Amino acid sequence: MNAHRCPTMEEFKNLLKKHSLKATPQRLAVHQVMMELGHASVDMVTEKIKDTGVKVTTASVYNILSQLALIGIYDHRMSLNNKMYFDVNAYGHMHFYDMENHTFKDIIDDELYEMIQQNLMRKRFKGFKVEDIDIQIIGRPTRKKYVANV
Ligand SMILES: [Zn+2]
Repeated sequence: MNAHRCPTMEEFKNLLKKHSLKATPQRLAVHQVMMELGHASVDMVTEKIKDTGVKVTTASVYNILSQLALIGIYDHRMSLNNKMYFDVNAYGHMHFYDMENHTFKDIIDDELYEMIQQNLMRKRFKGFKVEDIDIQIIGRPTRKKYVANV
């Protein structure tokens, strides 16, 4: 069983090297922020990096995140309000989605995940080969959040 955690900075540097990518300050800053946020949009990552004083543009953060997702270091998923979120955890796992605040949380339950996966993988979908299974629970907060009047 895999230890469920995102790549450390050292592991991230090794992954970059494996893919012949340079460990640029921008790429490292992106990973630093992704380790904290877990699931984040390009805007969220850009803003957080700018807070640390590293100079980046939204376009370059977009390029970095897309590239990392393309080579499988990160994963990505769409939120219900049509935003692309990147996931620092590329291993198979389930999600809980908060449909009011548009946030994702990982549900780490290997036993359940494997059970569902094995069950679904056995099913036949005429004309298709199952490539992947994406399990997401969608929830609405039961308690109303206090919203300050602006
Ligand atoms: Zn996740």
